[in-house]
Formats: sequence, structure tokens, C-alpha cells
Amino acid sequence: MTPEPKSAPAENAPAEQDGLPSETLREEYAQLTEEIRAHRIAYYQEAAPTVSDAEFDTLFRRLEELEALHPELVSNDSPTQEVGGEVSAAFAPVDHLARMYSLEDVFSLDELRAWLERALAGVEQRNPGAAVEWLTELKIDGLAVNLLYRNGELVRAATRGDGVTGEDITHNVLTIASIPRQLAGTDHPEEVEIRGEVFFPTEEFARLNERMVAAGKAPFANPRNAAAGSLRQKDPAMTAERPLDMYVHGIGARTGLSAGTQSGTYELLAAWGLPTSPYYRVLPDVPAVVDFIEYHGDHRHDLLHEIDGIVVKVDSFALQRALGHTSRVPRWSVAYKYPPEEVNTRLLDILVNVGRTGRVTPFGLLDPVKVAGSTVSMATLHNQDVVKAKGVLIGDTVVVRKAGDVIPEIVGPVMALRNDDQVHEFVMPTECPSCGTTLQPAKEGDVDIRCPNARSCPSQLRERVFHLASRGAFDIEALGWEAAIALTQPAEPEVPPITTEAEIFDLTPEKLADVRTERDKKVKGVVTGRELVPYFYSRGTAKKPSEPSVTTRKLFTELEKAKQQPLWRVLVALSIRHVGPTASRALATAFGSMDRIRAASEEELANVDGVGPTIAVALTEWFAEEWHREIVERWAAAGVRMEDEVDENTPRTLEGLTVVVTGSLERYNRDEAKEAIIRRGGKAAGSVSKKTSYVVAGENAGTKLERAEALGVPVLDEEGFTALLEHGPVADPEDAQEAAVEEVQPEEAP
Ligand code: NAD
Repeated sequence: MTPEPKSAPAENAPAEQDGLPSETLREEYAQLTEEIRAHRIAYYQEAAPTVSDAEFDTLFRRLEELEALHPELVSNDSPTQEVGGEVSAAFAPVDHLARMYSLEDVFSLDELRAWLERALAGVEQRNPGAAVEWLTELKIDGLAVNLLYRNGELVRAATRGDGVTGEDITHNVLTIASIPRQLAGTDHPEEVEIRGEVFFPTEEFARLNERMVAAGKAPFANPRNAAAGSLRQKDPAMTAERPLDMYVHGIGARTGLSAGTQSGTYELLAAWGLPTSPYYRVLPDVPAVVDFIEYHGDHRHDLLHEIDGIVVKVDSFALQRALGHTSRVPRWSVAYKYPPEEVNTRLLDILVNVGRTGRVTPFGLLDPVKVAGSTVSMATLHNQDVVKAKGVLIGDTVVVRKAGDVIPEIVGPVMALRNDDQVHEFVMPTECPSCGTTLQPAKEGDVDIRCPNARSCPSQLRERVFHLASRGAFDIEALGWEAAIALTQPAEPEVPPITTEAEIFDLTPEKLADVRTERDKKVKGVVTGRELVPYFYSRGTAKKPSEPSVTTRKLFTELEKAKQQPLWRVLVALSIRHVGPTASRALATAFGSMDRIRAASEEELANVDGVGPTIAVALTEWFAEEWHREIVERWAAAGVRMEDEVDENTPRTLEGLTVVVTGSLERYNRDEAKEAIIRRGGKAAGSVSKKTSYVVAGENAGTKLERAEALGVPVLDEEGFTALLEHGPVADPEDAQEAAVEEVQPEEAP
């Protein structure tokens, strides 16, 4: 649920007469102003916002739009004219020597380019011919703080407040280890205000919330609120317990400080022992700024702290002064905001899922909400301790976060919106929701609860069937999630087509004829109820009787093809704990056949490079179960290949070498590249270390390539890789060339 702004959008507003705002528009304006003020109080004073930043930004933008249409609406106390953040009565008010400002936001690269062009034009008008350099830095998602140093000594620290008056938080700031009481070096200015951002390190955030909930206190919705809440404690001893940190990013009033640029000032501040961010850059032009934004967009989560954007500043103080300020923002700086990754929505329920290995995992069922480019309706909660630690109750409005490609996460509840009558606690079930078996901890004292009915629990079977068809196992495209449900948990018949994965290759089209699943019944596109429909067969009519669907025919073709997959894929398909593609490849290479793996002792298994004792135990325990052995036997009887052919013709060119493939290659997908390496006696590793012999870098190679370069590991392109496979290490392009020259020379010599 992303609450729409309560105020009506402009298109709905009745037409205006004489260019004057209509009554409805005035009402919308008044309501919007009031809403924004209330959100600012919740955010700045209480560190407990009730809407996400993205929702707040939408409201703010709408207000700006209305004011642009009707400048006569703008009063001096409009939120667009003020720096947000009232001063709370809990702290002594202090006036800043020089005013603190907010920043103008832009939300797209086009808007950013337009803003930078306008700023350049502004500079040109005031200082013709002046060159502008852009100080570009990370927009730290924290809390603005103003530090006042006199002759090198910290005498006061204050929050930004409304920009003119802040809250005195000196005692709390003194507990932050990275902020010096006394500046290092000599020649300090008589007086200088240093501004920066106090933040809560992202890694520590989950631990803090866990402690808060355990102590019966309300958790914070995100690290920014945790920083604000921690810094604005009445008792500095409480602040001292929080691992707050700070980066400085500006100066206010100054007497006796000689620096001509913002970046030059950062160098001075760093020399005095103040924490400056290592990430700022002085960039010459707009394309370089855009590159910086794109780079950090991709590396947004590799940092100590959260960022919500990039700040671009005119570096020269003289040009900053020439451009000046509005009442709210400087005209020499802009904040580019990245697309939001956090939204608020309702936690409708907490259900549990029974996984492939029987692990019972609670997950949140959410009111569907769009975040970071996709709609999210579920988010895992891992186990009951996590549910407790996050302090979420069913019925809460929760903050949901989806960082890039990362799976969505429930961060915590929005406490200010909790209505005690409408929420209740999640209780972990004691019986498996799928098969009714009593749930047990995996080991004594373990927080993970499992359904011990591994063989027949329909949910576990469904997960294993889905897994055996996956790309890294048998690779059966026609057997997706829905088909796995239809095979193991159909609405009809009562006995599903398969009751163990041992039967998967014994399926026949006839066995699937009566399988029905339930789905929405639609009449003219409108859902009118639920209905049972054949899953694997067409619906059929009197004229054309029902027959296997195209996908079902494809399923049988693919099952036939799957029987020829290499041994390592068969191993992956068996869902043995800890045995993924890497271990399976190592096992297949070392033993060559399923029989030999089964006959190997735990010690022999553990000695295989890439296997180790944990996997060896998992393998022996797995083969000790009769029903597991039956899977292998029935698959083998159905014709699944249980032995790899040793190809005597493939030369062992990579014996003793470790190769890492990164980025995408044209002629090989990732699996094929790995297989090619292993077949030639090499080791296909996933991470780069000093021991890596070669890194093969395809298109869009990322950090692995950077690491290879840093460690001096030779890097090959696709051609180099092909040559390496064929000829071994001499195929290093330069060596090969040298070798070729040496070979040719004697013949050419007179
Ligand atoms: P802002 O946070 O968008 O930008 C200004 C601030 O950025 C500065 O005061 C400074 O402290 C900080 N900053 C971080 N890194 C910086 C750097 N490298 N250089 C310079 N400044 C840097 O503006 P704001 O006025 O503080 O707050 C507005 C924003 O706060 C909104 O866009 C919204 O995201 C959020 N907000 C949310 C709610 C809510 O209810 N969710 C309410 C109010 C404000």
C-alpha cells in the first residue's frame, strides 16, 4: 500500500477562471501544506516518519508544481520556502552563526543535466569565462549536524533545525569517536562551523533493532531514523552506546580560514583529523558527473552507510557566492536522488513455507507494492527469532526494502501507525501446514524448525521437483513452479501423479490426463470465482477431444533429453544438502560415476578438492536412506546417465590451473565455460585470489576483473580463453606470439 497523496491531482481539479486558482485547488494546496508539515515533524522531531521518503517527495513535488502554477499561493512559511525541521523543546535552542540549507532535489539524469546547464549559464552571466568544476559526492542518508570549533576546540554541536536555529546536542556529539574534541595540527581558524552528516552504519542497524525489541522498545524503520533517534537522546550515555559515525561535507561561518574551494577545504578538514568521505571527486564536466552517479548507483550497497543520492556542488567558493541561495537551498548545489528502495505497505499476514530440506520459514504476505522496479507481495522473515527481532505484528504498516536485485526485505514496523486493535502477534505453527507432521528443531536448541517428513511432505516434494528441473540441474524448462504444484499437489485427483521424485521419469501422458488445478474463473476479463481446469491437457470440446498441451509435449521431450545430462547435474538434481553445482562438479570429476560416489568412504569424499567434511557427511547420510537410493535406482532404470564418458580425445591442457570466468562470453554460457575447464583437468573457481592462474573476462566483467588486475593475475579475453583451452598456458597471447616468432625465425634465417 503506497498511500496516494490525499490531495487530488491537478487533472481532477476543476478549471480555473481568470488564471486564478479554483477553490478546490486552494483546498488541495492548504491540505498538502498541512500534510507536509505533519510529516516533517514526525521525521525530524520524532525520528518516526509515517510515510516513505518517496511518498514525501511526491507530496513535496506536487506542492512545488502548484506553486509554480500559482505563485500567488506562496507564503513565507510555505514548506518550499523553509528548511524542514522544527526545534524540539527537549533540547536547548542554539542559533547557527551562518544559516544551514537544504538541497534542491532532481529525480532523473535529464533533470540533473538541465539543472547543471542552468547553473553554468548562471555562472557565465555573473562571471563570464569562468570555468566550473563540480565537486561530486555521496548523499549520505543521515542527519545534518553543525560543529562549531573555536581555535581548534569543539565548543558546540547542533542539529540543523529550521536552518536558523538548531538543537544543542553537544554532549551527545562528544560521544561519537570519529569527531575530534580538539583539531589536530596548528593554524586553526579562530572560528569555523563545520557541517556534516551523522549516520548509523548499515551493518549495525539490524543488531540495534534486535536489541531495541528485546528491551521492549520500538524498533527504528531505517538506519537514518536510527541515527536521528540515537543522536537526539536526552541522556548522552544512551547515545554513547550507539555506533554513530560522521562525515563532514561543508563549512558555514568562518573567521581566519583561507581556502578557495570546497575540495581544498576538505583537504584542510581531513588534515585536522575530521572525518571526510573517501569518495568525493572534483569532476570537469557534466558527462563525468553522470558517470559518477551511474557508478555509485551500481555500488550503492558497498558502503558503510546508506546513501539516497549524489550531491553535486560548484567547487569554487567565489562562484558559490556569485550564485547565492534561495531561502531554502543553495543555487550552487543539487542533490540527484536515486530511485527509492523503501516503501511502506501493510503486512496482511505471516505464513510459513516448507522448503526443500523441510525448513519451515515464515514469510510476510504484503499488500502488493511497487519498489525498485518490481511489485512485491511477499518477503521472507527467515525464522521466528527474526520475526521477533524485527518487532513486526500482523496488520502493521511495515517498511519494505528492495535494494536493486536483492530479494525484498521487511525492515520493520511503522510504529506511529500501529493500531493495537488491528494487530496480532505471529505464532509459529507446531504442525507442518502441508502434511500435519509435528515440527521439530533441526538440532536441539536450533531456531530453524523443520518438518521431519522429508519423503512424503507434499511441500518438500514440490520444492525438490521444482529444483530438479532447474537450470543448474536437469534443465527442464516445461517443469516450472506451477507444473511442480500440479504434479505434487493438484486439486484433482486425490493421489497426485507422483508421490516421490523417483517417479519423475516414469511419468506418461496418460498419468497426467486427469490432473486439474484451481484458478480464477473469468467472465469477460472479470474474476467471478474459482474453477477447476485441466493442467496438462487442453480443455477439449465435443468436436476436439482433450489432448496433451504443447507444453506437456515439450515436458516429455525435455525429460527424455534430461536423461543424457552429465553426472554433476544428476547430483545437483538429487537435492542433497550442501551439494550444489560446485561440489557436484568436483565429485563427478573425481569419481566419474554415481556408483563410485556411493561406494566411496566419508574420508575419500572429504578428500576431494572442493568437497570437504561437511559435504562428505551430507552425502553418506543421504545415501544411507533407502528411499534416496531408490530415487537413483529408478532414475537409472529409466535411462538416466549415471556415468560420465571419459573423453580421451580432450587434451588435459589445464592440469593444475585454476581459472575464474567473469562477465558474459559469446560462445559459452557460464556452465559451459566451467565444464570446458574441468574437462581439461583445470579447476573452475568462483573467486579470484593470488592462487588464480587466469581470469577470463567477458562483457561487463565487474569486481572480479578489478581484483585480478589488483593482484596481477593474468586476464584473458574470449579468444585468449579458447586458445588456453586448446593449447594450455602457452596460449597466453603474448607468449604465443613470442613462441611463434621464435619458431619461425630459424627457417627464415639465411
Ligand atoms: P535532503 O535530505 O534531501 O538534502 C539536504 C541534506 O542532505 C543536507 O541538509 C545535508 O545534511 C544532507 N547531505 C547528505 N550528504 C551530503 C553531502 N555530501 N553534501 C551536502 N549535504 C549532504 O533535504 P532535507 O530538507 O533534509 O530533507 C528532505 C528529504 O528528507 C526529503 O526528500 C525526504 O526524502 C526526507 N523526508 C522524509 C519525510 C518522511 O516523512 N518520510 C519527512 C521529511 C523529509
